Amino acid sequence: MSIKKNLIKLFGFILLSMQGLIVQAEIEDRISVFAVNYPLAYFAERIGGEHIELYYPIPQGIDPAFWKPSVDEIIKIQQLDLILLNGADYAKWLDKVSLPYSKLVDTSKSFNQDFIHIQKNATHQHGPKGEHSHAGIAFTTWLDFSQADAQAKAVMQSLSKQLPAAKQQFESNFQSLSRDLNNLNQELKQIVTSNQAVLASHPVYQYLARRYHINLLSVMWEPDAFPSEAEWSEFKGLADSHGAGWMIWEDEPDQQIRDRLKGMNIQAVVFSPCMNRPEEGDFISVMQQNIENIAAVFR
Ligand SMILES: [Zn+2]
Repeated sequence: MSIKKNLIKLFGFILLSMQGLIVQAEIEDRISVFAVNYPLAYFAERIGGEHIELYYPIPQGIDPAFWKPSVDEIIKIQQLDLILLNGADYAKWLDKVSLPYSKLVDTSKSFNQDFIHIQKNATHQHGPKGEHSHAGIAFTTWLDFSQADAQAKAVMQSLSKQLPAAKQQFESNFQSLSRDLNNLNQELKQIVTSNQAVLASHPVYQYLARRYHINLLSVMWEPDAFPSEAEWSEFKGLADSHGAGWMIWEDEPDQQIRDRLKGMNIQAVVFSPCMNRPEEGDFISVMQQNIENIAAVFR
């Protein structure tokens, strides 16, 4: 073999190696991110795209507000670049672990003066997972889509700070997400046209009710737990005085519950808070379905 051919081969090899190094460098440029709930994970994925590596260990079917990480999961979270928090007192486990302050992003900081404080200190069960309380600050901030937009913006800003080279891409991805959120915002504003009284199965719709002027009262029920007779009788009093013909649920209630409500002339309608990753679709498609569902109430 001639020297020339060998040189060409060697040159080709060097080029390939360099390419490998460049690919490697790009991968190492990815921002590792933890999100405390699915809405923030979704925002991070849409804004960050290929530039982020999301760590989201919360299993489907569990409410992230009441999830607790294992020791291994805490160690992993501590090592990431960014830790996206919901704020509003969300995820009580955060008080019990020490996380690097410089990596924490409080996504609801820009509107924390607007938080809703819950008066009643009511504790209740979530299925077999034990008791929990909704006392303190209402935390489903993202059900007011203008607040969700502010949280998405905080995610965009933290990613841009972390990886300035991709700032423009983060900004344009955010614009697209922001448009979707704004559409949801406008649609809901147009749908709620009356003072129609509505009941809710769970105290998670405070921001939704405030932003879109829904005349809403909550109980503390679960879609898969048939209430006691005492709870039904208390509910009857509430429904009568409120004059509600509709009840919003986080998930499809059991047929037995639905039938009993029907007997009281109350129809069940699902508005999923989408706190965890849905089985189908994503944050936006779940919210679109919610809006379609709730449109029936005001028709
Ligand atoms: Zn609850």
